[in-house]
Amino acid sequence: MSNANPYALLFEPVQIGPVTARNRFYQVPHCTGLGHVRPRADAAVRGMKAEGGWAVVSNQETEIHPTSDLSPYAEGRLWDGRDVPALRLMTDAVHAHGALAAIQLVHNGNHAQNLLTRAPVLAPSEMSVDTTHPKQAQAMDKADIREFRRWHREAALRAKDAGFDIIYVYAGHNMTLAQHFMLPHMNQRSDEYGGSLENRVRLTRELLEDTHEAVGDSCAVALRFAIDEMVGADGMQASEEGRAVVELLADLPDLWDVNVADWSNDSATTRFQPEDGYQNAFLSHVKQITRKPVVGVGRLTSPDMMLSMVKKGIVDLIGAARPSIADPFIPKKIEDGRIDEIRECIGCNICLSSDNLGIPIRCTQNPTMGEEWRRGWHPEIIAPKKSNADTLVTGGGPAGLECATQLARRGYQVTLAEASAEFGGRVAMESKLPGLAAWSRVVDYRLNDLKQRGNVQLFTNSRLDGDQVAELGVEHVFVATGSHWRTDGMGRSTQRHMPQIEQTAKVLTPDDIMNGLLPPDGPVMIYDDDHIYLAGVIAEKLATAGYSVVFVTPDSLVSAYAVHTLEQPRIQARLIELGVDIRCNQVLTAVEGDIARIGCAFTGRVTDIPCASTILVTERHRETAVYDSLRGIGLKTLELIGDAASPGLIVDAVFAGHRAARDFERPKAEADKDWFRREIIDLEET
Ligand code: ADP
Ligand code: SF4
Repeated sequence: MSNANPYALLFEPVQIGPVTARNRFYQVPHCTGLGHVRPRADAAVRGMKAEGGWAVVSNQETEIHPTSDLSPYAEGRLWDGRDVPALRLMTDAVHAHGALAAIQLVHNGNHAQNLLTRAPVLAPSEMSVDTTHPKQAQAMDKADIREFRRWHREAALRAKDAGFDIIYVYAGHNMTLAQHFMLPHMNQRSDEYGGSLENRVRLTRELLEDTHEAVGDSCAVALRFAIDEMVGADGMQASEEGRAVVELLADLPDLWDVNVADWSNDSATTRFQPEDGYQNAFLSHVKQITRKPVVGVGRLTSPDMMLSMVKKGIVDLIGAARPSIADPFIPKKIEDGRIDEIRECIGCNICLSSDNLGIPIRCTQNPTMGEEWRRGWHPEIIAPKKSNADTLVTGGGPAGLECATQLARRGYQVTLAEASAEFGGRVAMESKLPGLAAWSRVVDYRLNDLKQRGNVQLFTNSRLDGDQVAELGVEHVFVATGSHWRTDGMGRSTQRHMPQIEQTAKVLTPDDIMNGLLPPDGPVMIYDDDHIYLAGVIAEKLATAGYSVVFVTPDSLVSAYAVHTLEQPRIQARLIELGVDIRCNQVLTAVEGDIARIGCAFTGRVTDIPCASTILVTERHRETAVYDSLRGIGLKTLELIGDAASPGLIVDAVFAGHRAARDFERPKAEADKDWFRREIIDLEET
């Protein structure tokens, strides 16, 4: 690359033990929900990162033994030699593009419930498993520790056999045995593995030495270490024991991969951690202690931030999980000077929710993520147009914007008509709510692309009806007109018994709030039967504005689905701090004048809540008027996409828009086959 590139420093090679990274871009280990269950798909994800220019591409935590069984989740697995071929798919895919492949070996200790294997759960001391599963771990004796070291060493040898270049010892996220031994609250041992910090670090030291001895001739040995638990003096702190661990192990690993624990702190969402580079304060002293290269993370998407981190001596390598998911081609784009083409992560954690749900990875910003193998999708390449057809996309929310962007990339003439004064639909509105500003990147990225294309016409303030669409004479129409929130209280919990809502009651919806309407003075009740972020964000907005807010939900938690995005405890804590009156396990039955009536979800016992207004966050009605009026008029293509077809998350709308554009002018039978592509279990006796 040319030295004129201001980011040339990021493209210097870095020596990591016996191997060399071609530049400073390092995809740290991250889960995909694919793992050992869908190894071809996982290999394709990793290969795409390598193609995008990452110098190191890691897999995910990889169980080394049946006593570390994370079932039903689809992580990596390397219990014995039969797992090697599946992992070799990944190393081959990564090597094909000149990158190094890293594997994150793990024993999860009491984080592994061993539900498949029914093996004993292991921990430094006796304790419960770290979920609500009613099971306890047994304290490891010396023989168990020796066995664990042997499993780890043998797994390292198998990893080398599978072609990995960098092999991890993993002491992070409060999810691994190596870290559990380090933490006093998990290690109450009185032998040489407990007590002093030196003793508590002994196991990690031994694992590093064992791994070096087993594979260090040709593989680098990395340590992933959570330097701070972010619980203050109640846990490991970067300035105290965290620093001391780095001093104790200093040059023993070939690479320090340093982050914070637990996972929700390491992968904080923009709602709760808006800054890119938010982990820098915890990393800054590591490089002063070790001579070995250091990699750090913190949702790093800005090349300027990356550059300054290297220049300031905070890190040698730019680590990324989510930014590499949202845009696997960040390194190449920086190298080519195409900075404004970077598809920046919005920090929504939908990717993590996939892993937590045990399903293939999905990304709000990058609809091709997880579809590389199954559908053959590439984030940067799309089939060229098949004809000179003109296309019209009605509605400029995430579905319409993505559909228009991809149709334009294919080379079609595209007209995008949006009813309101700005593009973005629900994203434009939701990103104005507290903490969600970064979500506007979904719109910005696409609009920026569309505005630069000569084959695109963009119209705002253009609400089209069926007649107007017909008059335009365009024969290929995609309708992405979205949805609006219901006002009748119908939702999951009220399907059998619709709430009785008096005509005179002051009932609002999220659309009203997002359109700037404020509830009348007085207490406001928010009823959340949607269960992800929106009702909680509205409660935060109104409580911050001084309203007295009662938050009612049929679930036992506020924003219960946000458990999957790791945000739920933070959301509930924030509402408690703001003085919101939270009523869980309650179903709305009526709104009469200034009383909202709720009933216990278990007993039906009724409570009346005085409130000047009620905000219903339940279900949405699809906006299908344009689509309905166009049916039967003989258009060659008429497709309803996004929330107008099936209200869901933003990630679903972007996917729908993308798929519609990819499948345009593709034979239906061929496109339909994509739904059925999967990795079938081999029924051979093993
Ligand atoms: P999705 O998530 O499916 O993209 P959104 O609700 O976010 O759905 O966006 C739908 C967009 O469609 C909104 O910006 C809305 O203003 C716009 N829209 C709705 N009806 C029409 C119409 N008849 N003509 C043009 N735009 C429309
Ligand atoms: Fe970022 Fe959201 Fe994509 Fe995850 S799903 S990579 S948080 S944009």
